Amino acid sequence: DTSTAAPAPRISVVGTGYLGATHAAAMAELGFEVVGVDVDPAKVEALSAGKVPFYEPGLPELLVRGVESGRLRFTTDLAEAAAFADVHFVCVGTPQQPGSNGADLRYVEAAFEGLAQHLTKDALLVGKSTVPVGTAALMAERVRSIVPADGPRVELAWNPEFLREGKAVQDTLAPDRVVVGGASPWGEELLRRVYAKPLATGTPFIATDLPTAELVKVSANAFLATKISFINAISQVCDKAGADVTVLADALGHDVRIGRQFLNAGLGFGGGCLPKDIRALMHRAGELDANWLVSLMQDVDEINMWQRQRVVDMAVEACGGSVLNRRVGVLGAAFKPDTDDVRDSPALNVAAALHLRGAQVVVFDPEAGETGKRSFPALGFGTSTEEAVQGADVVLVLTEWPEFRTADPVALRALTTGATVIDARNCLPAQAWRDAGWTYRGLGVAPVQ
Ligand code: NAD
Repeated sequence: DTSTAAPAPRISVVGTGYLGATHAAAMAELGFEVVGVDVDPAKVEALSAGKVPFYEPGLPELLVRGVESGRLRFTTDLAEAAAFADVHFVCVGTPQQPGSNGADLRYVEAAFEGLAQHLTKDALLVGKSTVPVGTAALMAERVRSIVPADGPRVELAWNPEFLREGKAVQDTLAPDRVVVGGASPWGEELLRRVYAKPLATGTPFIATDLPTAELVKVSANAFLATKISFINAISQVCDKAGADVTVLADALGHDVRIGRQFLNAGLGFGGGCLPKDIRALMHRAGELDANWLVSLMQDVDEINMWQRQRVVDMAVEACGGSVLNRRVGVLGAAFKPDTDDVRDSPALNVAAALHLRGAQVVVFDPEAGETGKRSFPALGFGTSTEEAVQGADVVLVLTEWPEFRTADPVALRALTTGATVIDARNCLPAQAWRDAGWTYRGLGVAPVQ
């Protein structure tokens, strides 16, 4: 058997943001020699020094282990990576295009074209970024047009990534499934070797074509987004009808066909993935004249954005019709707990909207204070829950960090004037807060008269 005797494939990871830094460190943890490449010299410098430039539980330890072992290094030089690696994972960003719902593919194009120009030996180029269906085939063609016919063997495959921020390390080391699109038997064999450890523990390996692989990822995100917007739409009915959406979701969740996860009514989804991914999908589906998905995703997006307005309106109402010069305490800035990511964060969006209406907003987030300040310097930021709550006319819980869920409502009550809490994540023990003298408001949870 020659495959087991062959040396382990060497790996490059192009784009070392949330996805790429985690992927590179995880590959080194699995025993591979890895080089990470990024165009951002500050990022490369930090990672080389063993510092993760964002908050992700467990990743600093992994990075330091990789760097210290000598198996993991970082560079800005793509040519160096092309000369070094056999398998190249492309993990660059695919943000929303300004002024359009479509994805901005310029970074993906630059990464594949750059690699193709520098390759001098056989290589498997593996896309991991989330892209509109059809992108991979386009990239394969570009690469073919650049690599000389008598040059090295260069192939492309797509291996979409499903990791969740906050759980990125465990999701990468032990993924639910590995999906690989468009790989030849040679490419598939290489990827089976890269993922040998998780596959040995029974992780399903799904080999398919390029468009299916691209679509698995966007469909997963579209479905999750739909689940959230569905329960939020139900929560509107609950509000009007005096029903309780949390009890309802618990009861629904016992049906294994439905499941309890992603059925929490609240401020809705945000972050660097779901919003731009459903918009890219509605855009691409429109181009393909697959119009059911266009209208479905439009509704999902609209319901989601309406949640932010709904919470702003609740805060205004709690302040008697205007927040002008009122003190608003905001707990949470990150788009979800266990991250400092504030890309398209519903929490910051609500805080900023109240600021623009003249409120004096003080935000506290356990990890996203710095990133939050950078994206909204006009907002006030405190360094503790108490500082945000101090003197507040209304308190808003906008990210469900455990430390907010377990905060002491009695102690916090003594710090406020208004004593109204808007639990925009339905995450607080409502009765305990009421018992402490707070007026408690959730979403889709009828107020107790
Ligand atoms: P990010 O913005 O954190 O990272 C992208 C990195 O690519 C940046 O560091 C940037 O400097 C670098 N880059 C850009 N052009 C480059 C080039 N030509 N060569 C080398 N580096 C380059 O983005 P992210 O959150 O890591 O997402 C990356 C991709 O992964 C996106 O398509 C995203 O949808 C997908 N994804 C992200 C997650 C997540 O949780 N963040 C999960 C699954 C999939």
